[in-house]
Amino acid sequence: MMDLAALKIDIDGVAIEENPQLVQQKSRDFYWYSPVLKRRLEGVTAAIVARPKDEEELLLVIGACFRNDVPLTVRGSGTGNYGQAMPLAGGLVLDLSGMNRVKAVKAGTVVAEPGAILAEIDAAVRPSGQELRMFPSTYHTASIGGFIGGGSGGVGSIRWGGLRDAGNVVRVRMAAMDGSIPTVLDLTGPDIHRVSHAYGTTGVITEVEMPLAPAVDWVDAIVSFPTLEAAVRHGETLAGADGLLLKNVAVMDAAIAPFLKRHESYLAEGEAFVVLIAAAFAMTDVVALATRAGGRIMMRSDRLDEAERHRLPPAFELAWNHTTLRALRVDPSITYLQVLYPQPDIAGKVLTMAQLLGDEAPTHLEFVRFDGAVGCFGLPLVRYTSEERLDAIVKLHEDHGCPIFNPHRYTLEEGGMKQTDALQLAFKKRSDPKGLLNPGKMIAWDQPDFDYGRPYLFPSLSA
Ligand code: FAD
Repeated sequence: MMDLAALKIDIDGVAIEENPQLVQQKSRDFYWYSPVLKRRLEGVTAAIVARPKDEEELLLVIGACFRNDVPLTVRGSGTGNYGQAMPLAGGLVLDLSGMNRVKAVKAGTVVAEPGAILAEIDAAVRPSGQELRMFPSTYHTASIGGFIGGGSGGVGSIRWGGLRDAGNVVRVRMAAMDGSIPTVLDLTGPDIHRVSHAYGTTGVITEVEMPLAPAVDWVDAIVSFPTLEAAVRHGETLAGADGLLLKNVAVMDAAIAPFLKRHESYLAEGEAFVVLIAAAFAMTDVVALATRAGGRIMMRSDRLDEAERHRLPPAFELAWNHTTLRALRVDPSITYLQVLYPQPDIAGKVLTMAQLLGDEAPTHLEFVRFDGAVGCFGLPLVRYTSEERLDAIVKLHEDHGCPIFNPHRYTLEEGGMKQTDALQLAFKKRSDPKGLLNPGKMIAWDQPDFDYGRPYLFPSLSA
């Protein structure tokens, strides 16, 4: 039985918050992105928030939760958008925003506390002539621990692949929920998967070491195309151009232009477009390739005056989930999906889905490096009408060979390939024997024989 009174005595000295409104704020993430999750998770809240300032306090809190049977859900910055950081079983939210120091900048890597914000890590490593390999488009707000715990990749993935790819995280230090004095482990190599993208269900990351790349002077650019097909094919060409140093390539349907308000003057009405980030020294080749493909350069940040450069958000804040965010601000009925368009014939699959769904789901693509080849993820906007129709759109993609990573589900399995990660499940049995870490997010732990034909509903939510 959860004993909160005893917990509070045990963690005396650690900063806590019990004001119900503030606790509820810290119990929420960007779950409202999904109309489905918005309805289902609206009432979720913890009983208490603890904000440790260092590893010693963090271990004290974990140990006390173990002793007093209090569920614990880790929170970095709460920018995850599938309710990953929401405490379905109540209990304690472990707010890591106070553990935000960059501890060491080395030749090739950086060591940081889990709550360190990605942009701040980059600022700290920049004087050494280095930068992070990749980051989510929530660069300015998201934490490194949350990125590893809940993210998948993003800006930089066109060159470096995803976070899960070998080498993209060097070392993770984590605490288990296995006793009054928690076990602390340093994980390297394939062992990192035990805790990466596990939504904090298998351990709490207390320190990370990330690989760095040489810092580059990046240019944002927008290229316009008369047809969606031309834009998609150009995106694929860029992604496959081995010699071009690129940081991001996003392709968008003409219907998305009205949502990118501050870039309005750089978007041609009725034209699809490519938003890209390229090394300054690669721009001559970028322009040549665009022109050859029939595109028009509408904007390049190195040709803007100072005032205009400051007025515009960075290109990466038009891409990934920021596209959805900008659309939602204009039209709150919009939501989105996450699609994989597998090889071969990426363009053919994209265009088939675009034709089948038309204006109901405007195309948005992000090209990445995927298992050493060109890969393509879609984050199509969806003009939401009902949960049934959304499920039908999911099925339509799957029926056409395009798997969906469903952003309208809060569990690891349903958001992925409807399969439990056997490594994570086996590890959880040792690292969290009482099942106190972020309950409800790993179906295999709660209900091993779950039938994936319907959405999973954690018991506390059925009320
Ligand atoms: P949180 O939301 O606080 O946590 C995410 C998950 O990790 C939760 O399950 C939490 O319990 C767990 N967690 C947090 N800290 C730890 C820790 N120390 N140890 C163990 N588990 C932990 N994601 C991408 O991958 N790429 C993108 O490009 C991207 N773009 C986005 C754009 C927008 C506008 C929004 C709203 C979201 C986007 N996301 C993206 C999702 C999210 O912003 C990122 O994954 C981000 O890195 C999460 O960091 P956070 O600190 O906010 O984590």
